[in-house]
Amino acid sequence: MSIHRLTQDTVGKIAAGEVIERPAAAVKELVENAIDAQARRIDISIAGGGVDMLEVRDDGRGIAFDDLALAIEPHATSKISSIDDLKALTTLGFRGEALASLAAVSDLRIQSLAVGEQAGGLLRVSFGDAQPARRIAWGGGTAISARDLFENLPARRKFLRQPQTEANYVTRIVAGYALAYPAIAFSLDIEGRRAFATDGSGDAIGAAVAVWGADIAGSLVALSRPDDMPEGFEISGIVSLPELDRATRQQQFLFAQGRMIASRQLATAFEQAYHTLLMVGRHPIGCIQIDVPADRIDINVHPTKAEVRFADDRLVFALVQRATRQAIVGHRPPPSIPTIVSSPLDDWTIQRRLSLAHPEWRSEPPGSEPRLATTLHDVERANGLVGGRKLPVLRVLGQIASMFVIAEGPDGMYLIDQHAAHERILFELLMPGFETRSSDRQLMLQPVQVALTARDWETYIDCRDELTAVGFEIEEFGGSTVLIRSVPTVLKVREPSKVLLMMLDEMAAGGRGTSRLESLAISAACHTSIRAGQALSLLEMRELVMQLEGCSSPLACGHGRPTMLRMTAEELAKQFSRR
Ligand code: ADP
Ligand code: MG
Repeated sequence: MSIHRLTQDTVGKIAAGEVIERPAAAVKELVENAIDAQARRIDISIAGGGVDMLEVRDDGRGIAFDDLALAIEPHATSKISSIDDLKALTTLGFRGEALASLAAVSDLRIQSLAVGEQAGGLLRVSFGDAQPARRIAWGGGTAISARDLFENLPARRKFLRQPQTEANYVTRIVAGYALAYPAIAFSLDIEGRRAFATDGSGDAIGAAVAVWGADIAGSLVALSRPDDMPEGFEISGIVSLPELDRATRQQQFLFAQGRMIASRQLATAFEQAYHTLLMVGRHPIGCIQIDVPADRIDINVHPTKAEVRFADDRLVFALVQRATRQAIVGHRPPPSIPTIVSSPLDDWTIQRRLSLAHPEWRSEPPGSEPRLATTLHDVERANGLVGGRKLPVLRVLGQIASMFVIAEGPDGMYLIDQHAAHERILFELLMPGFETRSSDRQLMLQPVQVALTARDWETYIDCRDELTAVGFEIEEFGGSTVLIRSVPTVLKVREPSKVLLMMLDEMAAGGRGTSRLESLAISAACHTSIRAGQALSLLEMRELVMQLEGCSSPLACGHGRPTMLRMTAEELAKQFSRR
């Protein structure tokens, strides 16, 4: 439709407000306009942090010459006619405010050629003062530039940050749109230098590599659609694997109905998917696009449309979390070893040769009881994972330094940290019972008496209910002494008193999980798992590796430390100068 003024009534219903508060906001509005004009390429350049100059040039449909003057009128838009159109909005813009606001606070120039017209047009508006549009020669599409932003509003200018910081805000906006719209070729020039450019081929990973750099290409995965997606809901995007993390959330982008949004809850849902896979204080990167049926979202709640309201917010958060979790968990080989240490190789090479040459040596001497109380079946059942493995089947070769299990898989050599691995296994075994407060408990033959310090006693009182729920039956014995009567069955607790004290200590420090039950599970798993320095029999190692194969997140322990490293046969060959 052509550009027209909205009626006062419609204007009143639109959450109007100040849309241009900094250069990045102007760039966002102009980029969204270009996308609405069906551009295939969008080139952005800024100088002086976007305050001196910002320009967005596109190859879209253009603005009809006769519409140029209207484009900068407040509440003039070609995108909706009445408030009802919001229900089936297919464009990013709809308020008809951005160009008017920008024209009031900058020296604005619009150059455009509309599809079907012979000659282009130029409209110049200097701080609200419009000159008549005039005809120019123009190749096609639209270029809109704004100079000297807020020069007429010194008070506003004072709120702007250093040009470098403003440029960073602009970069974030362009990066987000470039990631979310891989079929559009974006380029960003800052102070005359190319910051990045995408090729518009439609390949989301390609766009991500262009924006984030080639070195992290191998650490990204595309989201797959969760199986039971409700009708009309879609989730797509690219997220980082747990091997990659950042100190800030700067590189997390969320889009709803094609527009970049800010949502703490959604960002939290996204990060939850990495829970126990990333170190505390580290953040994944990613760009997630959510589409919901038009009547299940309100985009008209925020002046710059940065915040939206989902009718089914819990569902949306759960979907984001599930899709992300599905994409990152398993499905991937563990990080490979960049360089190899020379000495331990002898050990395993010899063991492997021996075991190949003498298969009978691989069987266990009689009488060696495995010390793991649980089986692969237990782990798979706990995860509902029977049959669906996240790791290839590994062949255990031996142990190094009483700390690492070395194994061979179809794709190379695996070094497994026995403590971290066992911690992961126990954590996954404990969690289902903890969450449903239905852990099996094993009665102690003799109750174990533990004297608590004042601090431990307080923590104990604080977590008493949870402890009972997860299988630690504890009786108060007078003063600050307690009796441990039972422990969760999956834990083979040798020294229940020590484990209880460790758990209370960690709980007092705030716990390491997202919930108290999870903190308890992490803590219990950590303090009952096989230690580094413990010699394991081949049978025990096999059992450990098999149970790890059955884990839903076999690659990291509950604290986020890796459980294993992998080195492919090619990498080994390279290390031995065979390639
Ligand atoms: P809105 O996007 O909400 O409609 P704007 O003030 O951003 O309001 O833009 C006003 C109008 O100018 C748009 O409705 C559109 O018709 C036109 N317009 C703005 N930018 C472009 C562009 N890059 N290409 C084509 N038309 C544009
Ligand atoms: Mg707009």
